[in-house]
Amino acid sequence: MAESMETVKELALNCGFSHVGELDVSTIRVRTEVRDACAADKCQSYGKRWTCPPGCGTLEECDARIKKYRRGVILQTTAELDTMDFEAIGELGMNHGKNMEGFAKEIRARYPSCLVIGAGACMRCQTCTYPDEPCRFPNEASASMEALGMIVSDVCKDNNLPYYYGAGTLTFVGCVLLD
Ligand code: SF4
Repeated sequence: MAESMETVKELALNCGFSHVGELDVSTIRVRTEVRDACAADKCQSYGKRWTCPPGCGTLEECDARIKKYRRGVILQTTAELDTMDFEAIGELGMNHGKNMEGFAKEIRARYPSCLVIGAGACMRCQTCTYPDEPCRFPNEASASMEALGMIVSDVCKDNNLPYYYGAGTLTFVGCVLLD
């Protein structure tokens, strides 16, 4: 039986996230311009991982994957930091990744068909098999919200969860589509 959203949110907060919100999947709009930004390859992951474009599928295929779900949860890790301090930003990103990893383990045990969507490229393996061999861990790989075409701030706004927590703060965001 599906757990209540309150139980899922509590579980997420116990995994270390700073803020957690409910996600109505019908609010998600995938956008071509986000995928165009991926193609510019600023994060240097384009065409290098199964979970990044073009390996994660066309925008239409990503939309179809998302729309199989009805509800989910938005997961944020926020810190106060100097937004020019790249070491601190890297540390926050690592903390968010650890929170996502811990929560993914817990939530996959409860919702085996859930879709875990992180921040940044899948780092499950040091070297991805893309494009020569199939993904080694298809049940553990996670795409980013951007790779699937989402504008992170819009997803938060459309679900009444702040994205900006004031000057001198930064927030990393992921989500899990439950059922
Ligand atoms: S799990 Fe490994 S092989 Fe699969 S997408 Fe992630 S890094 Fe690549």
